[in-house]
Amino acid sequence: MKKVFKRGVMTLSVACVSLILMGTTAVEAKGPLTTEVKTQAVQKTSLTEERINTVLKEAYEKFKDNQEGKNADYIKALAIVDSKMFGITLVTPDGKVYEIGDTKEVVSIQSISKVFTAAKVMQEKGDKFIQEKIGVNATGLPFNSIIAIELHGGSASNPFVNAGAIQSTSWVEAKDSKERWDKIYGNMDDFAGTKLGFNEEVYHSEVNDNKNNQAISKILDARGRMGSDPLEATTVYTKQCSVNVSAHDLGMMAATFANDGVNPKTGKKVLDKKYVPKILAIMATAGLYDNAGDWLYLTGSPAKSGVGGGILAVVPGKLGIGVVSPPLDKFGNSVRGQQAAAYIIDQLGINPLAQ
Ligand code: GLN
Repeated sequence: MKKVFKRGVMTLSVACVSLILMGTTAVEAKGPLTTEVKTQAVQKTSLTEERINTVLKEAYEKFKDNQEGKNADYIKALAIVDSKMFGITLVTPDGKVYEIGDTKEVVSIQSISKVFTAAKVMQEKGDKFIQEKIGVNATGLPFNSIIAIELHGGSASNPFVNAGAIQSTSWVEAKDSKERWDKIYGNMDDFAGTKLGFNEEVYHSEVNDNKNNQAISKILDARGRMGSDPLEATTVYTKQCSVNVSAHDLGMMAATFANDGVNPKTGKKVLDKKYVPKILAIMATAGLYDNAGDWLYLTGSPAKSGVGGGILAVVPGKLGIGVVSPPLDKFGNSVRGQQAAAYIIDQLGINPLAQ
């Protein structure tokens, strides 16, 4: 059986603490999906177009019928998204696009947005600011944990859990909420190299039901860690989570990181090159939440997931990977998204830690 998110009482056996924090029910699941892909001895392969196309097709065929996992349902609008949707896009730093499946279908970006807002704050305030004000360590606890803040001296620990993400949003320099939102949205457009859509349905579904995140923002405010009004920042954070992305968009956003912060399609420099490794380091540490260690062990690659079912993975200098598939594992990470990305990295022999 799979472990999935459900609102209610939590009974996960891993860490009682984390359960209390998340307010979710865990349904028993089998082991980590990471066992699906057996990492082979990494061969140095050249990334020919033919090889990329072959591996992409194999990944799609291999995992397309896997129905493991379950759509997030604690945000009601996510429960009704087509769980069969499955698209994979690969983009090389020179802007070549390889894709298969439902690569134009969109889901809400959710937590993947945290990467771009943190990048924006880093660009405006520097990497030390992120490290000192928010943190860059793993919490070892679920992404919406409240107790994690208390356990770590009133700190969010990193910008990719909800606490740190709401903080990042609050620290984007802006005179008001509208300017903050416009900058965050425009920054994601720049990473994607296109104007991204907005999912009103998801936004309204979550903004009326985000009391846990409001509570997080208030605690952080009490600890002097917020850059703007906590509830205003939470609302803008909820908006940024409601931006629509396709596998194609995610592939391009990932490729912007793989290409030293320059969008391969538009040529626009979105993030200073010196900050790219910093953001990728946080992705490696906390991009897949409390499963980040297993993921890194398997792939050696920074990645970020969202409960909408999107995932992006970055192989610096080589490849941006975007996958959309809504059913999630117990950590809130797309099951087929992880499988496909891990398979591609493995089969192309591009694990960055094995070069
Ligand atoms: N908007 C979601 C939330 O705050 C994002 C969570 C996620 O994608 N992990 O709960």
